Amino acid sequence: MGDEARGASEGAKIGGARGAPPEQQNVAPGADEHHPTIASDGDSAPPSSLVPPPSDPLVIRRLEFLGGMAQAGGWRPEPSHPEVAFAGRSNVGKSSLLNRLVRRKALARVSKTPGRTREINFFSVNDRFVLADLPGYGYARISKERKAEWWSLIDRYLRESPQLRGVVQLVDARHDPSDDDLRMFDFLADLGTPTLVVATKVDKLRRAEATARVGTLADALGVDAEQMIPFSAVTGQGRDELAAAIVALIDTPPWRHS
Ligand code: GDP
Repeated sequence: MGDEARGASEGAKIGGARGAPPEQQNVAPGADEHHPTIASDGDSAPPSSLVPPPSDPLVIRRLEFLGGMAQAGGWRPEPSHPEVAFAGRSNVGKSSLLNRLVRRKALARVSKTPGRTREINFFSVNDRFVLADLPGYGYARISKERKAEWWSLIDRYLRESPQLRGVVQLVDARHDPSDDDLRMFDFLADLGTPTLVVATKVDKLRRAEATARVGTLADALGVDAEQMIPFSAVTGQGRDELAAAIVALIDTPPWRHS
């Protein structure tokens, strides 16, 4: 059975469902199997780099993997909380960004589990909002059929999620947008979805170069340079700015009803 054909009932299980021994699963001790809480990276005190600064706009108190949506129109968690989706082509740095954002390595590890890479993976953050990690697109060797399945999964999710507040769209600061990036931007613009644009891996560029690249990218994507958040998962640059923008987004009403 292909991973994409799996039913939603498996979605909420990361404890035991894939046969990995418990110590390899990112579930906090005592978390129940269907709604496991994602553990922080260490058993005891987290390393100082993971201790949030006092001004952190998004202190992560609770993180819970809710499950994955494998097919268009398939299972998804009850849309009871505001949702923010994260999109970008494969390898853009989405997993690294998510790890930085929530200060847990385990979140993106769940999304990178074989079989989950083509799903939309949902995480509850602080019981306040839901983060939807969309599968990476633009993988070179992907077949036409699979690509069509991918677009239909994303298309329906974005159209049919009543609590969606916006999309965080990632582009690699070093490269021009791909055709798939442009298609995604067009699609989001058509829907009218509020979009935060993050330029990833800026640590790979010198400061002046990064500023120039962000400007070029903004032009290519048709957004203001001020709308873009330069980000580095290595240095943490942009993490708090992104966190604050997400908090502002989830506090607004769904744009479809406003
Ligand atoms: P994903 O496929 O979009 O989830 O991308 P990953 O987060 O797995 O990152 C892809 C590759 O880029 C990995 O080798 C990461 O270590 C690297 N990477 C991701 N973010 C950054 C960043 O901010 N700076 C640098 N230098 N490398 C990064």
